[in-house]
Amino acid sequence: MSSERKYTGIVVSKDIYERLRTQVEKKSSKLRARISISDYVESLIINKIEEEELLSEVGQFLSFAERSGDKIFINDWVRGRIAPVSLKVNPDGSFKLFCEFDNSDSCVHVGYAYSLPELYRMLKEKGIKAQPQTR
Ligand SMILES: [Zn+2]
Repeated sequence: MSSERKYTGIVVSKDIYERLRTQVEKKSSKLRARISISDYVESLIINKIEEEELLSEVGQFLSFAERSGDKIFINDWVRGRIAPVSLKVNPDGSFKLFCEFDNSDSCVHVGYAYSLPELYRMLKEKGIKAQPQTR
């Protein structure tokens, strides 16, 4: 087996490159280790590709509709409904997502909501750490 690694280049805009560089610097200082931008981008891309692969089945029938207050609305094309998923914040600052359509905290809509950047934007706005309740 050949140990030779093969590479190809990808062009990104300067703005994106600067954002990446800033992130890599933050992570490097947090971890007290030097991370290369290439390694960082590669890990982001691999994570995203795996996420897309995992979601491809589910993603075909679910899509983000809108956000309103503490709720994220998800289109369910199979059931022809919109599922409201609400954010419940616990007194200790942890949170939980709850689907009002299924009366469940573990249905596909809740799972899908965890994959949405909109959820993490909402948590950030509310000053909630992006760690779901573990109990
Ligand atoms: Zn649901």
